[in-house]
Amino acid sequence: VVEHGQPDRSVVTTCAYCGVGCAFKAELKGNEIVRMMPYKDGKANHGHSCVKGRFAWGYATHKDRMLKPMIRKSIREPWKEVSWEEAIGYAAAEFKRIQADHGRGAVGGLTSSRCTNEEAYLVQKLVRAAFGNNNVDTCARVCHSPTGYGLKTAFGTSAGTQDFDSVMDSDVIFVIGANPTDGHPVFGSRMKRRLREGARLIVADPRRIDLVKSPHIKADYHLQLRPGTNVALVNALAYTVIEEGLANMRFIEERCDPVDFAVWLEFIQRDENRPEAVAERIGVKADDIRAAARLYATGGRAAIYYGLGVTEHSQGSTMVMGMANLAMLTGNIGRRGVGINPLRGQNNVQGSCDMGSFPHELPGYRHISDEVTRRLFEAAWQVELDGEPGFRIPNMLDAAVEGGFKGLYVQGEDIAQSDPNTQHVTAALENMECVVVQDLFLNETANYAHVFLPGSSFLEKDGTFTNAERRISRVRQAIPPMAGYADWEVTMMLSNALGYPMHYDHPSQIMAEIAALTPTFKGVSFERLEELGSIQWPCNDEHPTGTPIMHESMFVRGKGSFVVTEYIPTDEKVGPRFPLLLTTGRILSHYNVGAQTRRTANTAWHPEDLLEIHAHDAEERGIREGDWVAIQSRAGETSLRAKISDRVQPGVVYTTFHHPLTGANVITTENSDWATNCPEYKVTAVQVRLTNTV
Ligand code: SF4
Repeated sequence: VVEHGQPDRSVVTTCAYCGVGCAFKAELKGNEIVRMMPYKDGKANHGHSCVKGRFAWGYATHKDRMLKPMIRKSIREPWKEVSWEEAIGYAAAEFKRIQADHGRGAVGGLTSSRCTNEEAYLVQKLVRAAFGNNNVDTCARVCHSPTGYGLKTAFGTSAGTQDFDSVMDSDVIFVIGANPTDGHPVFGSRMKRRLREGARLIVADPRRIDLVKSPHIKADYHLQLRPGTNVALVNALAYTVIEEGLANMRFIEERCDPVDFAVWLEFIQRDENRPEAVAERIGVKADDIRAAARLYATGGRAAIYYGLGVTEHSQGSTMVMGMANLAMLTGNIGRRGVGINPLRGQNNVQGSCDMGSFPHELPGYRHISDEVTRRLFEAAWQVELDGEPGFRIPNMLDAAVEGGFKGLYVQGEDIAQSDPNTQHVTAALENMECVVVQDLFLNETANYAHVFLPGSSFLEKDGTFTNAERRISRVRQAIPPMAGYADWEVTMMLSNALGYPMHYDHPSQIMAEIAALTPTFKGVSFERLEELGSIQWPCNDEHPTGTPIMHESMFVRGKGSFVVTEYIPTDEKVGPRFPLLLTTGRILSHYNVGAQTRRTANTAWHPEDLLEIHAHDAEERGIREGDWVAIQSRAGETSLRAKISDRVQPGVVYTTFHHPLTGANVITTENSDWATNCPEYKVTAVQVRLTNTV
């Protein structure tokens, strides 16, 4: 740790990395950060932190920070530093010109889960009110959009059902497609504590994650399924519960829609869902499927925790609904220790979705076509809104390649690195006439930008984040914005230059507007947050201090809905040309594409992405530990160093995605979730060959 002397003040704020949302004390000497210390009264972390959060301030003050606005007429020209006024004026004039030349729908905006609720809210407001369309999306598109679709369909709202502390009451913990000890370390530690106390554990994952076997913890069942077969597994589990008479019929009769249940029951009892019928296809023994189903159904309070290993599939939304079916079937919803809990990758995935960052939904998950809601926002915003859903990110990119989409405002997201099929993304960006990037660094997307607006780090922001347990926490400004303005102020200036006036003196006023227009946020304000420390939405007249556990006496939609979840295999299949399946994940010391963690002291602990390959597959290819290998899919090719590992089974390879040099997304394909377009990052058919050159 680099320390710069004794602090003379401290500011309590929230970590800007993962969805745990740990509270920290930023300790400062003047305006210089001395260190970050976990805050003992933080309700999400109870005084704990992980290595990422402790060192996070390193990137905020890194020398690579871009602090001057810049413009250039073409992406082949060098950047020119300009004043804020000139940069904003240029961007606004270009967006207006594009709309005059190509129509109102030729521009759009992207917000990010790295931004505060208030910032995300303003970006969607700018797009809807100033651009006059609904072409707004968020990076949640590429991670948890299936959670939004699946949980809303089954239960009526797009949110995790429990608070983190609820895990301490679980008797059975079922982890599906998540690696909590690396991806969500502080919550992962709490889960391990409960497991050491005796809770039983089921893990469904193509890779042997640490949780499967670590000191004093051993999973009862590791269902090491083939990538892309989640839905077949969850259906087989539900089949077993029904066939063996383990369903909680009282819960189903009291709490669930009888018509939906009858239709689903007929579906789930089909022979194709029998464990013995799916075992070979998914690579898990039928006996293990049956035993895991029995444990989940009869082991006491059973909770499901899941991550991107569920959502980033062609059937991501189907799988979320499959897990909801299983929870309702066994009555594992609506009380402590149970539930369906998405482990959100980024700190404000929940919040950016809550704030209406989707092309079809206004804040609070209300459909844009709903006239009553639209009228409410029209009256507040003094503007007429378009009632048709706009473009999602993939639609914007496709339209740009085809030539009909020409202008994009990107706040805090690096689509050229984080989105699948990099070649397609860059072709789309190259075809646009005005790309505005608002970020801390000149990221990969900025290579295709015409305007660069310096962003503000979490230490410079004032506002709120909402973590994976729906907990709204304050982000407090520790140092003034290094480039002069916070992100919300920049969006406001851009909107004003576009001709749609926005006037806020402080983010608390933006939150007041959100609360006035969003029933689930009715009781949320900065004053109330100071009083309570943090608040889990819904917070309203019925729940004035927030709601730790959802769906206690009835589901948000009334009766819970069982949904038919037919397993449809992904198009991404192995064959002679691409005989292996690649899946991806995270490592403890890094966060997402690594743009932040690579600029902190964490870098040394994981300097490159590695390809984990089973000894059997390595030997067949003459590959030894540390060799450079080429990894090729039908989308592209990249190079990585090999790591021989028995964490993956023969036929499966695995890598992380934290370093741009290896660029895992060069090889991921355009396959996506049928309902939400969330990319299928977790299944790519590949070939691996020895090169021993980079
Ligand atoms: Fe907490 Fe996640 Fe930040 Fe680690 S990265 S300190 S677990 S919020």
